[in-house]
Amino acid sequence: MNEFELIESYFRRKAGRRPDVCMGIGDDGAVTRVPAGQDLVTVTDTLALGTHFTEAMPVKSIGYRALAVNLSDLAAMGARPLWFTLNLSLPDVSAEWLEAFSLGLFDAAGAASIGLIGGDTVRGPLVITVTALGCVPAGSALGRGGARPAESIFITGCPGEAGHAWRQLAAGQALSVDDPIAQRFLYPQARTAEGLVLREFASAAIDLSDGLGADLEHLLASSGCGAVIDVDTLPLSAALVARVGEQRARELAIAGGDDYELCFTIGDAMLPGFLAATQGWACRVTRIGQTAAGTSVRWLQNGQPWTSVEQGYRHFDGEVAST
Ligand code: ADP
Ligand code: MG
Repeated sequence: MNEFELIESYFRRKAGRRPDVCMGIGDDGAVTRVPAGQDLVTVTDTLALGTHFTEAMPVKSIGYRALAVNLSDLAAMGARPLWFTLNLSLPDVSAEWLEAFSLGLFDAAGAASIGLIGGDTVRGPLVITVTALGCVPAGSALGRGGARPAESIFITGCPGEAGHAWRQLAAGQALSVDDPIAQRFLYPQARTAEGLVLREFASAAIDLSDGLGADLEHLLASSGCGAVIDVDTLPLSAALVARVGEQRARELAIAGGDDYELCFTIGDAMLPGFLAATQGWACRVTRIGQTAAGTSVRWLQNGQPWTSVEQGYRHFDGEVAST
């Protein structure tokens, strides 16, 4: 199979065609029509074998995640997904591999109504780069830098499960595809619909890729504020608590990574409208603390500093390869 047959069979034929794509796969460049009055939001993420995924993972999940992690970035910006490109560096891969990869990729694409408009295919080590484009009404994109002191800090979902599954994989253990905890790593659900709502209410947002502890610090550093987090309010997955105990589940919720949940801040004036808007949400949303003046992040349990993370979550930085 040559490069052109590969692109045709596994990508162009499956790509579908959005009406706002004037020229897609097959030309030297893609031509797309940005909706009037909208700003374009561009995100990109690269996944490399050994660093971000392993050969023990289902190939379908590799395709799914390659797009899902980008959809999560768009969600954090409050953007509606439009189009994406796919750059593949492939060693000798089989038709079976490409079939499974493209199945996962287009599962994620179909759910988000995002269209594949181009890419590049080369021979080399297994590396996958997706660049995704989305739009927001002009001037309304969410950023990390808009939080101010005394705002509420929220997260969607229950972080921690994906971080546990990744640690199993990284330790060479197989994941069972029927295990809901493993699913959270293999098939992360970007919070696209929630991000669109947050654009109206949140002052700042970030998606959780490195782990709540690290990503919250990124948001606060951009915003120039500190925070007080009540560790007891962190939403924990019952399945994870049953598997690893409450203490470890809490550590994974803070330091795990690969959650692809959203963490965001809401000022008091926006709080009633926001809480009303979350009534229809399928995912959980939890207030975990509030922003403060200064730059320090204090993790408290019963008003006391929470010290029982094994070595402090910063020390987990090297453990998760999601950066
Ligand atoms: P060129 O040599 O002009 O750069 P290519 O042969 O690289 O063109 O690509 C031909 C067409 O196929 C282009 O429209 C390109 O965007 C698309 N394409 C290449 N690789 C991929 C891929 N992995 N996924 C989707 N589209 C691709
Ligand atoms: Mg090219």
